[in-house]
Amino acid sequence: TATVAIVGRPNVGKSTLFNRLVGKKLALVDDRPGVTRDRREGEAKLGDLEFRIIDTAGLEEATEESLLGRMRAQTEAAIADADVILFVIDARAGILPADRPFAEMVRRSGKPVILIANKAEGSGGMAGAYEAFGLGLGEPVPLSAEHGEGMADLFEALMPHFPHPDDAEEEDDPNKPLQVAIVGRPNAGKSTLINRMVGEERLLTGPEAGITRDSISLDWEWRGRPIKLFDTAGLRKRARVEDKLEKLSVADALRAVRFAEVVVVLLDATIPFEKQDLSIVDLVEQEGRALVIGLNKWDLVADQQGLLKDLKEKATRLLPQVRGAPVVPLSGLAGSGIDPLMKAVLQVYQTWNTRISTARLNQWLGEALEANPPPAVSGRRIKIRYMTQVKSRPPHFAVFGNQLDALPKSYTRYLVNGLREAFELPGTPIRVSLRMGQ
Ligand code: GDP
Repeated sequence: TATVAIVGRPNVGKSTLFNRLVGKKLALVDDRPGVTRDRREGEAKLGDLEFRIIDTAGLEEATEESLLGRMRAQTEAAIADADVILFVIDARAGILPADRPFAEMVRRSGKPVILIANKAEGSGGMAGAYEAFGLGLGEPVPLSAEHGEGMADLFEALMPHFPHPDDAEEEDDPNKPLQVAIVGRPNAGKSTLINRMVGEERLLTGPEAGITRDSISLDWEWRGRPIKLFDTAGLRKRARVEDKLEKLSVADALRAVRFAEVVVVLLDATIPFEKQDLSIVDLVEQEGRALVIGLNKWDLVADQQGLLKDLKEKATRLLPQVRGAPVVPLSGLAGSGIDPLMKAVLQVYQTWNTRISTARLNQWLGEALEANPPPAVSGRRIKIRYMTQVKSRPPHFAVFGNQLDALPKSYTRYLVNGLREAFELPGTPIRVSLRMGQ
């Protein structure tokens, strides 16, 4: 785990910040001899970040003249141990001469530093925060360790300094094939569409039935972007005997959905939104994939405008869990609508990969809470403090606060719908988890 040191002159509020991050119960006193004698260490948690934290405040109560000298030695030791340094100033007092030698030590270390303007509760002490720019330690993060304000901004500032376990797999690399599954009921027209996309010829020399029968994928390219298409039963059927009695195999659909990043649920526009269609969409939501709805056999539809309007309304009503998923009319047989389909695929893929900064999220959260505060449930006051995005693909948010186990489901839905609107997240599942503490 990473080590974070809290550094600064006496009385800027280092211990208060330490206690806020560690939780008083967990604070350990390190009583090894020497310069580290008075330093406190603890396991800190902020949002999803866990780290070891060192406080250099141990000497503040001492009244000896050697105080500053000893603190400096202790600070040097803490800085040497740290991966990231929190350099704390008092936003109300502004920059004092006593801040400078500590700032100098931090700068000399060359380690990543986050400048913290403490005691800035209720936006007080902004003057001091501006002055702090002059230290040359970057932009100050105003917060109030005592009142717990600004912790989301601290999280935001710290996060880039921690390795993110998901980052490796989460990169949106345009050279990596985008994995797209085309699923739907038998006879929706999946194989016709895929043949049209990749070309008959390619298909004939493509995967051999039998060998690849369980996970048929085809490499394709659309406008220079490599695409891996996953088919459920279509290709296999084509390769074998035509079998019109084929049932939708949930296992097949599930396998294709799991492989995919984006799932195109292909409907037969002449018989749309059958029960099977809805359960496939459910599957896509549960697996957390991005969704596009393809309305196939559009060439058979007489009143195209009327039907499209009607089906878009139906989609909104029947599929609230993936609200706003693009609905694209097309004809695999005529080869029309494939470009709009692929544009929609790339668009929901982007949405699925969205990352929203903690600052933007919390600005939005403040407004959402004000517009519609969480209810008190049987006398328990529910308090939501802040939120961060913990993952993408699909977007996953953690909400932090107190008594969240009493938060009604309808309120979580309010947050999800609000997030979807405010940050334009159509066509992707959105996850919200509730975390207590802090
Ligand atoms: P799959 O089971 O989903 O793979 O469906 P198929 O691709 O085998 O198509 C089922 C039937 O629908 C076939 O008779 C196709 O010719 C027909 N079909 C597929 N796409 C279209 C389309 O866009 N328009 C029309 N009119 N028929 C289609």
